[in-house]
Amino acid sequence: MAAGSLLLTTSNAGCSPDQSGMKGKSGGTPLNLRFRPFELQLKHVFTLAGSSRTTTPVVLTELECDGVIGYGEASLPPYLAENQESVAAFLSQLDLSQFNDPFLTEDILDYVFGIAPGNYAAKASVDIALHDLAGKLTGLPVYRMLGLNPAKTPVTSFTIGIDTPEVVRQKVREAAGYRILKVKLGRDNDREMIETVRSETDVPLCVDVNQGWTDRLMALDMVNWLAEKGVEFVEQPMDKNAKDDLAWLTERSPLPIIGDEAVQTLEDVVPLKGVYSGINIKLMKCGGIRAAHKMMVLAKALGMEVMIGCMTETSCAVTAAAQLSPLVRWADLDGNLLISNDQFDGLMVEEGRVVLPDRPGVGVVVQ
Ligand code: MG
Repeated sequence: MAAGSLLLTTSNAGCSPDQSGMKGKSGGTPLNLRFRPFELQLKHVFTLAGSSRTTTPVVLTELECDGVIGYGEASLPPYLAENQESVAAFLSQLDLSQFNDPFLTEDILDYVFGIAPGNYAAKASVDIALHDLAGKLTGLPVYRMLGLNPAKTPVTSFTIGIDTPEVVRQKVREAAGYRILKVKLGRDNDREMIETVRSETDVPLCVDVNQGWTDRLMALDMVNWLAEKGVEFVEQPMDKNAKDDLAWLTERSPLPIIGDEAVQTLEDVVPLKGVYSGINIKLMKCGGIRAAHKMMVLAKALGMEVMIGCMTETSCAVTAAAQLSPLVRWADLDGNLLISNDQFDGLMVEEGRVVLPDRPGVGVVVQ
């Protein structure tokens, strides 16, 4: 029938990369968003300065257009404000069927970001799926769509959580092959943690205090000691609200001081110049690839160092973050390695360096 033929024609045209696309119900195949909750199992108990856990809840998303599926993910560690229920509530509010051209990334994500404030992990789960879908429809990896050189990926750190010396030594042995280790500090055994790691390896270290230090003089003492121990930078040494103390420390520190908990979105970057030497950007904090890319450009323009990190999450979200890694000085992209039930195959780490998959989109396949 004529109507059916017309529908088929416009349906095929809707997701073609060379179509200008139309917003509305009048043509093309509407974007179809699906999502499901999933529980990540951690290989080790994960202990930070403030908490311990053995699982991480996530929500896995799929964005489909003309039979092509883009994959996304929201990772929801307990210290963030979001959870599986809030992500489901947010995603249920979206009507992406009003869009039939996934290449209108700015329009689509402006709509998604405008639905409600916050909900950045939920927004990231759409952003990642959208970039994956657009890449698959063009046959290009996201890094190529952004003009980034895959030969310029950084080395990535492997995280050693706070634990007993015996477990720490075991974790360091498991991390053989990594060229930088990230050691979690901020409890009462910081020097013991470093000495234990150093008893196993001479590789460069970075440390993440997760706001655990409370006194700036003690913090400066520790930073000076850490510099002698082959530490390259210190992440979030004190409470994110202690800006004067952090600026004081950054001014005197022999090591770069990187903000993590203090920086979430694009709006946070400019006020933190002078407070930190650099920032740790994560897709789950800022709302995905588009937002993270803008933050990187802005921070670099301000003369700040840029690091990219991740949550405990599947290879989907970690590989999405890795697409931006040619732009950063440091990467901490090991979240997929900390779980035992990854749902995707994606980035590789070879000789400690991020290797981007030669696949279109985010570069993951379902395992
Ligand atoms: Mg951190």
